Amino acid sequence: MTDYSPLIDGVYVLAVIFFILGLRAMASPETARRGILAAGVAMLLAVLVTFLVGGLTNNFGLIAIGIIVGGGLGWYWARVVKMTAMPQMVAVFNGMGGGAAAAIAAVELLTAVSDPTNASLSIAGAVIGSISIAGSVVAFLKLQGWMVQRAVVFPAQQVLNIIVLVAGLAFGVLTVVQATTVWLIPFFVLTLLYGILLTLRIGGADMPVVISLFNALTGIAVALDGFVLVNGVLGDAGYAMVVAGILVGAAGSLLTIKMARAMNRSIGSVLFGGFGAKEEVGGAIEGSLKPIDSDDAASLMAYANQVIIAPGYGMAVAQAQRKVKELADALEAKGVSVRFAIHPVAGRMPGHMNVLLAEAGVSYDKLYDLDEVNGQFATTDVVLVIGANDVVNPAARRQGSPLFGMPILDVDKAKSVFVIKRGQGRGFAGVENDLFYKDNCRMLYGDASAVVGRLITALEHS
Ligand code: NDP
Repeated sequence: MTDYSPLIDGVYVLAVIFFILGLRAMASPETARRGILAAGVAMLLAVLVTFLVGGLTNNFGLIAIGIIVGGGLGWYWARVVKMTAMPQMVAVFNGMGGGAAAAIAAVELLTAVSDPTNASLSIAGAVIGSISIAGSVVAFLKLQGWMVQRAVVFPAQQVLNIIVLVAGLAFGVLTVVQATTVWLIPFFVLTLLYGILLTLRIGGADMPVVISLFNALTGIAVALDGFVLVNGVLGDAGYAMVVAGILVGAAGSLLTIKMARAMNRSIGSVLFGGFGAKEEVGGAIEGSLKPIDSDDAASLMAYANQVIIAPGYGMAVAQAQRKVKELADALEAKGVSVRFAIHPVAGRMPGHMNVLLAEAGVSYDKLYDLDEVNGQFATTDVVLVIGANDVVNPAARRQGSPLFGMPILDVDKAKSVFVIKRGQGRGFAGVENDLFYKDNCRMLYGDASAVVGRLITALEHS
């Protein structure tokens, strides 16, 4: 029989190099497309060369069906998904990874539970994979609006969660110690249930951190399974899975930490805090909502020295990015300096605003992140908030607000603020926005695309 090991090892090393280069390229929107392509090619190579690993002669048909059905569904969904529904899709894809890791662990436990090393690694992979898939399904339902989005909190919930987790782990330990498969059903039921209970308690604005955390967990589960397969059917070829899993685990963990920092929250408080469960009580906001029409807003902007545009989720919903670029060009043509203030969690996925504005052709040097731009608002004539709400809500500075502690764009410090939104809708966290009631704030009601279009027309005539 031909020994393909050198070829297999070589292709795996190549795949790993491509994974790393791909990750690196994803650090900037300019090169991200190339990064995705590199990582995709790496994954394809790794999958294809695995067919040459000896001992995999059974089930080729089933594997092919899995690849065609799974690949086809993934390809179709990724093509039709709207940019605004991307987080849901990421949640489901993460969940699939976690589910696959749990399923591999289950098969290993059913076939090789008597090997204590493999059984321990499989149980660890199964715990993490089960929590990840069950939690990702709940995250998907919340983001899709198919279940209540706020944190679901009930009495003695933490105690119940701990009991479920500890009982699940105990069945896992029993499985390893007694080298038996009889405890596997309660083990999986309880670990899946824990994933559901954990995510139920997490609400609103914390969902991005959770999705990123599940992504990291999926990577770790895959790496653990990789070790199991190194000891079993794949031999050394399993190390490709270990490396891929570790890369996902490391990148996902870093992203989770960065996002939690950007929201000024600890991972512990995200997971166990029940953030956003309650509406803020009392403390009615003083002032009133003051509308302005687009002609007046346009002429004030035309006479401004600096305008900062702060986009948010509403710009994505309205797909207004190209019009926004046109507006910025029209203002610049009148000698106004225009910059964009980008909050790290504006929209519904990390980098959402950067991606949309890049697609519209806004150059990167006009995009300023939170730290760079916050000092500039006080000297800015006009801030135009386009469909952003939570990320510009000064309530985040007030103790007792559910948003307290989240870093925001300090747009309220500008001389004038114009806010484009359709009506009285609250942001993702469901918290009323103090900004809209301030003396320097005016509301430009309507769909972001339509309002920006009206501003452009008004500028042309001013
Ligand atoms: P928000 O969700 O806080 O607010 C969006 C605002 O846009 C709403 O107040 C809505 O008001 C308005 N809007 C919606 N559609 C339109 C439209 N067509 N035209 C004009 N306005 C519109 O968005 P932000 O970007 O400020 O904040 C993002 C939130 O999402 C944060 O809480 C963040 O934590 C969370 N999140 C972020 C993720 C990420 O990774 N970036 C992932 C998941 C959640 P109205 O209905 O009145 O028009």
